Amino acid sequence: MTLFSAVELAPRDPILGLNEAFGADTRADKVNLGVGVYYDAKGHVPLLRAVREAEKARLEAQLPRGYLPIDGIALYDSAVQKLLFGASSPLLAERRVVTAQALGGTGALKVGADFLKRLNPDVPVAISNPSWENHRALFENAGFNVVDYPYYDAATHGVDDEGMLAGLAKLPKGAVVVLHACCHNPTGVDLGEAEWKRVIEVVREHGLVPFLDIAYQGFGDGIGADAVAVRLFAQADVPFFVASSFSKSFSLYGERVGALSIVTGSHDEAVRVQSQLKRVIRTNYSNPPTHGAAVVSAVLNHDDLRATWETELGEMRERIRAMRRGLVQRLAGAGDFGFIERQRGMFSYSGLTSAQVDRLREEFGIYAVGTGRICVAALNDTNIDRVAEAITKVV
Ligand code: PMP
Repeated sequence: MTLFSAVELAPRDPILGLNEAFGADTRADKVNLGVGVYYDAKGHVPLLRAVREAEKARLEAQLPRGYLPIDGIALYDSAVQKLLFGASSPLLAERRVVTAQALGGTGALKVGADFLKRLNPDVPVAISNPSWENHRALFENAGFNVVDYPYYDAATHGVDDEGMLAGLAKLPKGAVVVLHACCHNPTGVDLGEAEWKRVIEVVREHGLVPFLDIAYQGFGDGIGADAVAVRLFAQADVPFFVASSFSKSFSLYGERVGALSIVTGSHDEAVRVQSQLKRVIRTNYSNPPTHGAAVVSAVLNHDDLRATWETELGEMRERIRAMRRGLVQRLAGAGDFGFIERQRGMFSYSGLTSAQVDRLREEFGIYAVGTGRICVAALNDTNIDRVAEAITKVV
């Protein structure tokens, strides 16, 4: 008997497992639609011009490598707040929002979960059905009981609005509700403004705690339009959490750049919440890394770099939308796939069954998630015809 002899082999992450199988596939014309990253028209993870310029200036400045504050770079945190809430938000003027730099969107969710566990240890956490595959495990790991609320309606390829509202209304007071603010992963279907307002009413009436997850701001309809949920909650004057990420919008996946923002009822509350949040961070990883957030901060806080970034973000968004249009056109003979064009962000619940996904992989070397999730941002002019032809053959 050794310390590790009883350790069981953990199940493989399904998406990483898919990537491994893709890597081992020797077919030259294979296509990986199982990924969760944006690829450019040439099939590469882009290095944005705005990022390159900010990095060059940083390198030339030859700065020392001291520790950052526990909650990160102050200019980064304030830039995040403006992006999420809008520069003229009264919440910011009243200094009611606490923002801490975090290790990507995942790190923000984890710090928020750990803080919530101290505030309200016995409430359930509700996630959408389906949701990003890490939501459940992350909140369970933080010690919560995780339940789900209805979200996707396969029949309409849209949101099950009534089911969702009824599901939320059944939750006990204080329950945490994880909401995808835009570009829902994995389905690509989002709530409209009117539906958000109804969700806010239920949240208010039942005393729920919203935890918004915004990992794709700018990939749907634009920076401001994609923040509509955040801004509606801000106007509703309820306390809430926001986990945000620059992994996609800055193509900085490996730099781990995100933030946790907490909206409180007053500046005095914000000061106390911030002090406790810092304790959570301090005992997890002490303080965040410098490089990615310094780059994002430089871009967001300088007019020229900011304009360059907004142009590049717009290009990524338009490329995804063009691929959605192109796929729908090419699938016209295979059925009505018009819903793919109505979905937002990198992903589409394509409606493909798990058997059809297997055939795509085995016969055509096209890899998708077993649920039928495809990454539209991995399509390009070189592979889209092949993908559409293969889908037409398997449906
Ligand atoms: N939330 C959602 C909904 C996501 O899709 C992702 C990333 N795929 C994340 C959070 C995590 O983002 P990050 O890589 O910045 O940790």
